[in-house]
Amino acid sequence: MRPRTPATRGRAPARAAWAIAAALLVAVLIAACASEPEDPVFRRQIFTLGTVVDISLYDTEGPLAEEAIRAVEDVLNGIHRQWHAWEPSELTRLNDALAAGETAQVTHDTATVLRDARALAAASGQLFNPAIGALVHLWGFHSSERPAGPPPDPEAVRALVEDGPDMDDLVIDGRNISSRHPGVRLDLGAFAKGWGVDLAVEALRTHGITSAIVNAGGDLRAIGSHGDRPWRIGVRDPGGSGAIFASLETRTDESVFTSGGYERFFEYGGRRYHHILDPRDGYPAQHTLSVTVIREKAADADAAATALFVAGPDEFGSVAARMGVTHAMLVDADMKVYITPDMAERVRFEVMPVPEVVLVEPAP
Ligand code: ADP
Ligand code: MG
Repeated sequence: MRPRTPATRGRAPARAAWAIAAALLVAVLIAACASEPEDPVFRRQIFTLGTVVDISLYDTEGPLAEEAIRAVEDVLNGIHRQWHAWEPSELTRLNDALAAGETAQVTHDTATVLRDARALAAASGQLFNPAIGALVHLWGFHSSERPAGPPPDPEAVRALVEDGPDMDDLVIDGRNISSRHPGVRLDLGAFAKGWGVDLAVEALRTHGITSAIVNAGGDLRAIGSHGDRPWRIGVRDPGGSGAIFASLETRTDESVFTSGGYERFFEYGGRRYHHILDPRDGYPAQHTLSVTVIREKAADADAAATALFVAGPDEFGSVAARMGVTHAMLVDADMKVYITPDMAERVRFEVMPVPEVVLVEPAP
């Protein structure tokens, strides 16, 4: 049997109980598989970053594997504590300072992540915009519960969008952070998971591990290989059924990240409102069900997936070009697939009938 890392996602903390139950079930299945003596993959699931993180190590076991898993857990728990968007964290303290018009001193890590996020936001034309925390809050997504609705007052949305803040309003002077715009509230929900996966892989490498997957609820970085064959991974159904929609084999060091509207949403008055907001109008980005991106660094893949989700089919090629993304796939509201030629060469669709596919060159 060909091992496949299922792209199971379940990040909404409201679904935590479900996720833990599913994790236990999978753990039982893995325990059953582990009894096959020839299986060289050590798998462990941990619950952190509000999701199930699945770690697969090839040809590593025993105390070294346990120690490496603990290191990954420490790194990811640290990120969860440091950059949580609404539970007290370094980020909420920074947001409080920015709201008061003050300058705050942050850790070296936080200054670094903000600098990187700012560069990626600029490259995306501010479609990836981690400065719109106030808007995410207004929509009710700063909660461990699914928002009940109704959607916010259109006037309140308009007020936050007109002259809205972006990352270029942030002044990053070493570790001192201030803002030129009173409305900047940072939300790393579209970026911190990628950052964390990169750090987790670094932690594994520090332990001498060269072949592994860190899979945070379907978003993953794969290094090395599954012995003499590549790692094979699945991309989940953009409709949210949980089925595998497509699969691909990763090269020696690649991250595969998906932004999906099915990930967090609420329904009100017969309409669905999801958590990926278009900073230009303040509403959940229309026309897109999901975007999958392959890049080397998980943080880059995470930011690009969010930006291309907001870009939608019409601007998919131009935003991909701006961000230097060569491998991306967007599934629109009609399940039509927009895909870059390089990505098309890598992806195998696992659904019948095979979806309608439009090739899009990344081009300005
Ligand atoms: P997923 O949950 O599918 O991994 P993303 O990586 O796109 O999705 O992250 C979505 C989260 O990012 C939202 O919950 C919110 O906290 C934040 N967010 C929403 N819209 C944007 C945006 N346009 N730019 C940056 N962050 C955003
Ligand atoms: Mg993202």
